[in-house]
Amino acid sequence: MPKGVYPHTHIKPKVYSAEMVERVWELYHGQGMSQVEVATELGVTLKVIYRLMVNHGIPRRPQIKRNQRGERNSSWKGAQAGYQALHLRVEAARSAPQVCVACGSANPERRYEWANLTGAYEKIADYIRLCVPCHRRFDAHRRAVTGERTSPDRRSA
Ligand SMILES: [Zn+2]
Repeated sequence: MPKGVYPHTHIKPKVYSAEMVERVWELYHGQGMSQVEVATELGVTLKVIYRLMVNHGIPRRPQIKRNQRGERNSSWKGAQAGYQALHLRVEAARSAPQVCVACGSANPERRYEWANLTGAYEKIADYIRLCVPCHRRFDAHRRAVTGERTSPDRRSA
């Protein structure tokens, strides 16, 4: 069969651009819009918003309670140093974040971080700006959903 003749085989990947994900964060958590309002604002269907939020671990209101723990990824410890380095790389490429797209705060006294959305830590575009509490909440949610570690253990921090 010749390539490119059967367009139905080219299924749209269920991964959305970091820009789009960041926009959903902004509207939903920053501006407090409902999923329907976000969909309307962005000119897409509710299904797209719903799927994007699920795929990218954006927590919904009210928060889903899960009891799963992400301790089974034993290779994580060795990856911690790499994790830090990759976040610094993002900071070098996109500068230090000074706002949080989740809660909308932009306080020069506060600390903001680049949060990885997809688990593809090497992709500089796959990060959004979050304040520390929002980043931790987001990572905790993603751990519950995926069962994987998302960051170094911060309990002692
Ligand atoms: Zn925040």
